[in-house]
Amino acid sequence: LESKMQGFDERIRKPYPNVKYLNYRSKKRILVTGGAGFVGSHLVDRLMKDGHDITVVDNFFTGVKANVEQWIGHANFELIHQDIVNPLFVEVDEIYHLASPASPPHYMFNPVKTIKTNTIGTINMLGLAKRVGAKVLIASTSEVYGDPEVHPQPETYWGHVNPIGPRACYDEGKRVSETLSYAYAKHEKVSVRVARIFNTHGPRMHMNDGRVVSNFILQALRNEPITVYGRGNQTRSFQYVSDLVNGLIALMDSNYTQPVNLGNPTEHTINEFAVIIKGLVGGKSKVITTPAVEDDPQRRKPDITRAMTYLNWKPKVGLKEGLKMTIDYFKQEIKKSQKNV
Ligand code: NAD
Ligand code: UDP
Ligand code: UDP
Repeated sequence: LESKMQGFDERIRKPYPNVKYLNYRSKKRILVTGGAGFVGSHLVDRLMKDGHDITVVDNFFTGVKANVEQWIGHANFELIHQDIVNPLFVEVDEIYHLASPASPPHYMFNPVKTIKTNTIGTINMLGLAKRVGAKVLIASTSEVYGDPEVHPQPETYWGHVNPIGPRACYDEGKRVSETLSYAYAKHEKVSVRVARIFNTHGPRMHMNDGRVVSNFILQALRNEPITVYGRGNQTRSFQYVSDLVNGLIALMDSNYTQPVNLGNPTEHTINEFAVIIKGLVGGKSKVITTPAVEDDPQRRKPDITRAMTYLNWKPKVGLKEGLKMTIDYFKQEIKKSQKNV
C-alpha cells in the first residue's frame, strides 16, 4: 500500500506521475463529475498529484476513458460510469460539478438531455452535498450573459439570453443550475461556489467538437479553408486550461460564495483569430466566410476584477504560448489517427 501511495503499483509495474503523500487529516475525498472530459481530466490530474482521493463520475457522452487512463489502478482513484441525471450515493468532502456537454454542436445534439443534465443532474449533486455536508463548485459559463449588452462582462450583469433560441438549452440550463445552487445555499445551508468559465482551450480538447479553436487549427494543419462564420467581427477571449484549473481550485478553497468569472481578458475578433492561428500553424489555408450562426454572441470578454480581488487569481499563459501547446496536441492526435488507419 505504501508504494502505491507513493505512486507505483507493484503488481502491474505501472509508473504513475508523482503523487504527493497526504495523511488522513489533509487528504480530501473529492468527486469530479464530467472528470473524463477536457477540463475535468486536467483538474483530476492536478488533484491527484496533490494527493487527494478522487472519484470521477462520467457517462462518456463527450468524455473518454483515455483522458484519465494514467490514474486507473491508482489507490486514490475511482472511475464510475454513470449518468448524473440518476441519483448518486458516495461520501465525499468536495464536489466539482463539471458534467455537461460544452461545445455548441454537442449541447445542441440533444437539447432536452442538456437541460436534464444541468437541472436534474445539478439537483442530484446539491442533494448529495446536502446529505454529506460537502462543498460544491458548479461549472457555469459566460453563456449566462447571452449576447451581452455590457462589455466587458462583470458578474453583476444579469445577461441577455434568448430563452427559446438554439443555445437556450445550455444557457438557460446553466442559469437554472446557478439558481439551484443559491437556493440550496440559502435553504439547505449547502456551501456553494459558482465559476463562470469563459472560452478555454488546451490538450484533450475534442478534435471534432466544431468549436473555433479546434476547427481553425485542424483546417490550418490540413491546408483546408479556415471557416469564419458571418463577418468575423464577433469577439472571444481564450484562456489556457492550466489557468482555468488554478482558478477552479482557488475558488473552491476560498470563502467567496458569489459567482466568479474565470477567463483571459485578451480579446480578439474571430477574423484576427484566424490570422493568428494561420500564422502559428503555417500552411496554405485561405480564410473564407460562411453564413453567420443564429444567436451568436457578438462580444465576449471577462471582467476578472472579482477573481483578482478575492482569489488572487489571474491567467498566466499568454494566447500564443497556449495556442502553441494546443496546436502540438492536435498534431500528435492527427499522427496517432493516421497510424491507426
Ligand atoms: P467536455 O464535453 O469535454 O466535458 C464534459 C464531461 O461531462 C464529459 O466527460 C461528458 O462525458 C460528461 N457528461 C456530460 N453529460 C453527462 C451526464 N449526464 N452524466 C455524466 N457525465 C456527463 O467539456 P469541457 O469543455 O471539459 O467542459 C466542462 C465543464 O465546463 C462543462 O460544465 C462546461 O459547461 C463548462 N464550461 C466549459 C467551457 C470551455 O470552454 N471548455 C466554457 C464554459 C463552461
Ligand atoms: N441525491 C443523490 N445523492 C445523495 C442524496 C440525494 O443523488 O446522496 C438526490 C436525490 O435522489 C434527490 C436529489 O438529490 O433526487 C435532491 O435531494 P434533496 O435531499 O435535496 O431532495 P429530496 O430527496 O427531498 O427530493
Ligand atoms: N466560429 C467560426 N468558425 C468556426 C467555429 C466557430 O467563425 O469554424 C465562431 C463562432 O461563430 C463564434 C466563435 O467562433 O462567434 C466562437 O465559437 P465556439 O463555437 O468556439 O464557442 P462559443 O463561444 O460560441 O460557445
